[in-house]
Amino acid sequence: MTPLGDLLIRRIRETGPISIADYMAECLLHPVHGYYTTRPVFGGKGDFTTAPEISQMFGELIGLALAQNWMDQGSPSPFTLAELGPGRGTLMADLLRATRGVPGFQAAARITLVEASPRLREIQREALAGHEVSWIDTPTALPAAPLLLIANEFFDALPICQFQRHPMGWQERVVGLDGERLVPGLSPPMQLDLLEARLSDTDIGEVVEICPAAAGIVAEIAERIRRYGGAAIVIDYGGWHSRGDTFQALAGHAFADPYAAPGTADLTAHVDFEPLALAAGQCAVTAMTDQGVLLERLGITARAQALARHLSGTALEAHVAAHRRLTHPEEMGRLFKAIAIHPKGSAPPPGFD
Ligand code: SAH
Repeated sequence: MTPLGDLLIRRIRETGPISIADYMAECLLHPVHGYYTTRPVFGGKGDFTTAPEISQMFGELIGLALAQNWMDQGSPSPFTLAELGPGRGTLMADLLRATRGVPGFQAAARITLVEASPRLREIQREALAGHEVSWIDTPTALPAAPLLLIANEFFDALPICQFQRHPMGWQERVVGLDGERLVPGLSPPMQLDLLEARLSDTDIGEVVEICPAAAGIVAEIAERIRRYGGAAIVIDYGGWHSRGDTFQALAGHAFADPYAAPGTADLTAHVDFEPLALAAGQCAVTAMTDQGVLLERLGITARAQALARHLSGTALEAHVAAHRRLTHPEEMGRLFKAIAIHPKGSAPPPGFD
């Protein structure tokens, strides 16, 4: 068992089973043994790769979409240019390079990164050398100013709770012990006001997931956009109206047992965009759009062709594969979805309906 596993076993022995949300939070963000605290995580050597790590085109196109929306709203200055969970800082670096030519954009931008991991903050500092950057712990600390924000694969890392339908209400899925092993278990059945509306569209035994932190985070962002202007783009894998168990562990680019070696695998769940859109209710929210469709509308094919002109051999092959991976419906193009949040009465960022 890992050191974090030993800590969790002791805790569960003393105080009883813990929720999946507590388990996820400990595994990902434990200050000493957590996954994001200790692991190289991204890219070929890590456990998973993300759109900005696949191709520079991703950050470039998202950056230009945000810059266009900033101009459409009268180029407010100063404004907060924020990212939630920037990972290695690649998306922000590509965004900043692509928007260099947009008059006044970078001079007006106050770059603000929301990042929990001290280790990733250091990597981000290096990736963004030459830019003035500040870090905050939570979106609550975002300044009272116009806000342009991107969150890619951030919400899928937030802890979720799982509830399983039972004839007497709901059982929470928990993590308990079988001897010295961590094993999934179920709480006694209970009535839950929170899930009242899901009684009509679920069957006995079916699982519903809830991400307790997500709505509060979106509400903080939407409140700033409503008051001061701006826009937020949220991209992640998931769908509309969560159904079923999507909790998963990835280690070394393969699915793993989430309970076998706590702290060593990336734990995620699909993002349910419906409660995110509801939490942004003070603002306008676009229709959920497939990542592939969004990137096509933002001109990824033309950008890919321009970059291809300077490439040959294996570099060209890798570039063509990256374009396909980001956009093709059987790769990331359909599994990943995007929504944008913008002030009522203003135009959405380009690429959204
Ligand atoms: N957006 C990046 C990285 C995605 S991984 C990319 O697309 O490559 C998730 C990121 O969110 C990591 O940077 C992780 O440290 C950060 N993160 C996870 N949970 C967080 C939390 N509760 N608060 C702040 N940052 C968090």
